[in-house]
Amino acid sequence: MTAPVPDGPDLPDVPVAGEPDGPTAGSTATPPATPTPADIVSVVASGDDRAFEAGLRPRQLADFVGQQRVREQVALLLESALRRGRPPDHVLLSGPPGLGKTSLAMILAAELGAAIRLTSGPAIERAGDLVALLTSLAPGEVLFIDEIHRIARPAEELLYAAMEDFRVDVMLGKGAGATAIPLDVAPFTLVGATTRGGLLTGPLRDRFGFVGHLDFYAPAELEQVLTRSARLLGVPLRPDGGAEIAGRSRGTPRVANRLLRRVRDYAEVRADGIVTREVARAALAVYDVDELGLDRLDRAVLEALVRRFGGGPVGLSTLGVAVGEEPETVEEVAEPFLVREGLLARTPRGRVATPHGWHHLGLAPPEPRQPGPALFDLPAPAT
Ligand code: ADP
Repeated sequence: MTAPVPDGPDLPDVPVAGEPDGPTAGSTATPPATPTPADIVSVVASGDDRAFEAGLRPRQLADFVGQQRVREQVALLLESALRRGRPPDHVLLSGPPGLGKTSLAMILAAELGAAIRLTSGPAIERAGDLVALLTSLAPGEVLFIDEIHRIARPAEELLYAAMEDFRVDVMLGKGAGATAIPLDVAPFTLVGATTRGGLLTGPLRDRFGFVGHLDFYAPAELEQVLTRSARLLGVPLRPDGGAEIAGRSRGTPRVANRLLRRVRDYAEVRADGIVTREVARAALAVYDVDELGLDRLDRAVLEALVRRFGGGPVGLSTLGVAVGEEPETVEEVAEPFLVREGLLARTPRGRVATPHGWHHLGLAPPEPRQPGPALFDLPAPAT
């Protein structure tokens, strides 16, 4: 293991060739738009988030909160690689956005004392992009490919031999006269990250020696993340303030850190700078984030479903019209969290609000309809 590194926003990072989706080499994907207040609980990193995240990332395994099992497995992987003096097996990290996949990849490199190169699947459009990347790796380097399930198929096929035999075959010419020139690749460790593990092809998945799945964080774990971030940002955060923010962070450290920054702004402008429960509540009311972490759109969908359609079932496009959004936005942005929280269910007949959904809006769900008397139980008509 490397010597413990004190963490702080002003410390230089491990050698990095460019953040995923960032402006540097090997990462050309378009960054998502800067969030509006309505995007405050988005799990996708904005440009502003990235600037802060670089300083807030845990730098050693010991700082990485939660994910007990994956952390222990990664620790073993590292320990054995260091003992053998060889790069560890290739690692696949799967799980929703904002849960720490990039952070874990950077920790892995830091703990190995290796440099890390960051890129993303969509940035590798052609096989040639990947050849250039692989043949320029230094021995022992870590290559991080975010959203690896989106890598172009020809590049993916090149990756197989690179992962297995540390070799790439460059094809010269076309058709019958084409020849394959094998090029050596320095032994490296690939860390792939994916939000859609199911979309990975079998041959690619099989080439990872280790697959770790990251899950949503418990509120107590998010409180730890917030305490650490508040210390690094110099924000006076009271435990009750931390608990309030953690409960609204949708199980996601990225969201927790973003809410902390917005609450800090409020605390500085409208209060005495200290983040207490009351300050956090007042701040998050301004940003339309409720006690469960629902934002304006999530609530609008739930409200429309319950108040205008009696709890459903209602079709997706009708729901979209009711809230003034495209059906895709409702389906991809609002619904996953509403479903995960058990507030809304998708049924073959349409969307329905669950009893929990009704309660969340302070309303009583309708009594389940009693089955009417069966036809044959009806009293016989008087003759
Ligand atoms: P992903 O790659 O899965 O989208 P990131 O690694 O970019 O997620 O994490 C987003 C931010 O959340 C990081 O900047 C980091 O500050 C914070 N974070 C994520 N996981 C943890 C963790 N386990 N402990 C502390 N902070 C974390």
